[in-house]
Amino acid sequence: MNCSDIDNIMHEYFDNELSKEQQSFLFTHLAQCEECKTNFKALNRVQHEFRKDESELPEQLEERIFNTIRNKERRVANHSSQKRLPTYLIYGYGVLMTIISVFMTYQFFDLKKETLNYKENFEMTIEQINAQKKQISALINELPAVKVKASVDNPDLLTKGILESL
Ligand SMILES: [Zn+2]
Repeated sequence: MNCSDIDNIMHEYFDNELSKEQQSFLFTHLAQCEECKTNFKALNRVQHEFRKDESELPEQLEERIFNTIRNKERRVANHSSQKRLPTYLIYGYGVLMTIISVFMTYQFFDLKKETLNYKENFEMTIEQINAQKKQISALINELPAVKVKASVDNPDLLTKGILESL
């Protein structure tokens, strides 16, 4: 293993990709090789600077975001203190309420219409049933009454016949 291999291992070390054995191997070499030690120190410094930048960046970003929000709040505060509610907001609100009420009225009437239709259909069905019932009873009433006429021409024969059948 020569110094260029160690250079590769060094980069892996800073990427946290080295095993414990590889780390001890690296440090053993660094302890013996002045050139690699110098490289390692330089790399370590670069890494440190890089990490510092990394940790500073989010803070700056956060600050910028907070400043933006603060500015916006200030602008909104100024706006509402100078003017009352903007006219377009009032109009917008009015239009919105109108749309909602129209929509709801429409929905209500639609529902009412449906209910009425249902009721109408129901009543019509009942009427039809009643009409049918009337027709049926009329039909029954119109049927010629069955007259049972018992005519006995010869009572004696009848009696006799009955007696004989007994
Ligand atoms: Zn070396």
